Amino acid sequence: MMTTNKTISTFIPPVRTLMGPGPSDVHPRILNAMARSTIGHLDPEFVALMDEMKTLLQYAFQTKNELTIPVSAPGSAGMETCFVNLIEPGDTVIVCQNGVFGGRMKENVERIGATAIMVEDEWGMPVDPNKLEEALKAHPEASTVAFVHAETSTGAQSDAAALVKIAHAHDCLTIVDAVTSLGGTPVKVDEWGIDAIYSGTQKCLSCTPGLSPVSFSDAAVERIKNRKTAVQSWFLDLNLVMGYWGAGAKRAYHHTAPVNGLYGLHEALVILQEEGLENAWARHQSNHLALRAGIEAMGLSFVVPEAARLPQLNAVTIPDGVDEAAVRGRLLNDFNLEIGAGLGALAGKVWRIGLMGHASNAKNIMFCLGTLDTVLTDMGAPIKNGVAVAAAQAAMS
Ligand SMILES: *Cc1c(COP(=O)(O)O)cnc(C)c1O
Repeated sequence: MMTTNKTISTFIPPVRTLMGPGPSDVHPRILNAMARSTIGHLDPEFVALMDEMKTLLQYAFQTKNELTIPVSAPGSAGMETCFVNLIEPGDTVIVCQNGVFGGRMKENVERIGATAIMVEDEWGMPVDPNKLEEALKAHPEASTVAFVHAETSTGAQSDAAALVKIAHAHDCLTIVDAVTSLGGTPVKVDEWGIDAIYSGTQKCLSCTPGLSPVSFSDAAVERIKNRKTAVQSWFLDLNLVMGYWGAGAKRAYHHTAPVNGLYGLHEALVILQEEGLENAWARHQSNHLALRAGIEAMGLSFVVPEAARLPQLNAVTIPDGVDEAAVRGRLLNDFNLEIGAGLGALAGKVWRIGLMGHASNAKNIMFCLGTLDTVLTDMGAPIKNGVAVAAAQAAMS
């Protein structure tokens, strides 16, 4: 018989400030909501919450799409939901890549048995619409265009409206990754004509990780209903999920919804509605400008050209000769502050400072700049010390 390990007891996490690429700081109202009593997932009270959830998500996505729901798994599962439902073996998909997440789109396409035509842009740059146009001309057989709206690995935002317009001109449907953009920068599903979109709860919605809001246009639903082959994933097959989440659906059992997680997302979306989308976007932008003033005063710079810079994800250069992991370690251990490392082509070259959702506030900006200044100065880094906080302060007032 296995004996118990008495050294293991209740897990008490430290209280951190989360300013990396996600998860971001969770709003206390959301944590409180998640601690409420669990009820049955077919309880009429819960069904009412599911209906409200759809309305709240439609607002966040700016869409009237009927099929607008949270997938019961993280952003990566939302990605997979879009690909496995819209793509069939043998299809051709144009995948625009300018960072880590476009590479995952390629993986998804190829695992379905479809062909991915890659349109590549430098990491840190937005997707070039002209390159997409060229690829579509060269591949008239393509059925779908996929791209990442907000590349969290680099902090670059692409022009989703322009890319969707080009895709539609070539009779392609579009799959858009809005994991980091939703709630932080404008995402207008209907106005831009996006066909399939997925997001995540733990970035600018400030909710706990583990759910993925998705939305599908009528054209996308039509394609899903008329597939020649069954969706390879049973769990993510929207034909089945629609029986659980669909309009007037009998809420037939498909899987047990993550009840308390959905309390959290509901509260996150209520908070977003209270603030108003436009106000949330404006707050992310003005806080980014304050952080930027401090970062630049220190003598550090941004990787992404200004016009394509995401306010919620700041990829910042590392000063010469600095052990970047040691800096992150000191911020975490001495100050309970998490910032992100570079990924892929930018590994070791940048820090990624998130100002996402609830974490995008004046207190966090001053805290991050002050502690970064302290640690870098202490390590003898070649920065202008003692000026960052004042510069941010000036930008805020
Ligand atoms: C975080 C992220 C994902 C993956 O979301 P998970 O919840 O970690 O699965 C996908 N795409 C982008 C752009 C992201 O930032």
